[in-house]
Amino acid sequence: MIPAMRPVIIAANWKMHTDPTTAGQLAVAIAGASETPLVVRVICPPFVCLDAVGRALAGRDVAVGAQNVHAEEAGAYTGEVAAGMLVGLASWAIIGHSERRRDEGETDELIGRKLRRCLDHGLRPILCVGEQLSDREAGRATAVVRGQLAAVLASFAAQAAAGPAAGGTLEDGLVIAYEPVWAIGTGRTASGADAAEMADVIRGALEAAGWSARAAEAVPVLYGGSVTSAAIGEFLAEPAIDGALVGGASLKVDEMAGIVARAGLTAAARLAAGTMRPVETGS
Ligand code: PEP
Repeated sequence: MIPAMRPVIIAANWKMHTDPTTAGQLAVAIAGASETPLVVRVICPPFVCLDAVGRALAGRDVAVGAQNVHAEEAGAYTGEVAAGMLVGLASWAIIGHSERRRDEGETDELIGRKLRRCLDHGLRPILCVGEQLSDREAGRATAVVRGQLAAVLASFAAQAAAGPAAGGTLEDGLVIAYEPVWAIGTGRTASGADAAEMADVIRGALEAAGWSARAAEAVPVLYGGSVTSAAIGEFLAEPAIDGALVGGASLKVDEMAGIVARAGLTAAARLAAGTMRPVETGS
């Protein structure tokens, strides 16, 4: 089979940090310190900073993403934000982050419906999956991630009765972040080999859900969990891994500069080897 041409992506999850007066400045500093035409860069600030970050990044090749969307189109959901409200503010969205699964009780069924909302409004979803430490220690990490994907995709498929999504198919835009829960914000990382194994499991789970082998191979799989400029190399050395979802380190300009610089080396090597497609401006 011709190798899948996946982009290299570095996405920043700012979580509940920054505010509308400081976020634009930080985004510009990161954009300026990490300039490269080879890596897709995405910054996901809190909702209230999306406008400031988007304005600050105007004319720069850095995309803006949300950290969540609601599963419904609109309605009596106090304090929530619908995907349609993000049009013009964000072009990506993190969906199913483990902190939301943990703190807000998000289920795979709900997450599948959120994916549909993203596609309805042209948001490119970064779907997070990952096992707990107890799962890994019990040898069921791959089974857990397979199960998450099967349930999310079944829920997404159940939305088909609503007709095709306006923003295209899941096969066109889905990005998956493998984030072992025990590695998030802990300073511990998975090994590159474990992450690569999980990327294969993830693409296998897409095929098991009915995707063609080609479509499954084309889905970028990111690693997330305590990624730093020092740690990123181990993951990008794995051909199955296409970048990172970065939390804590993404608030530090020097760290982001180092992470994206390392990703740029990987992207250049993959481009030369013909296994990566050139980044489209505005990706
Ligand atoms: C994340 O928030 O997705 C994440 C991976 O966080 P951290 O890099 O801080 O572990």
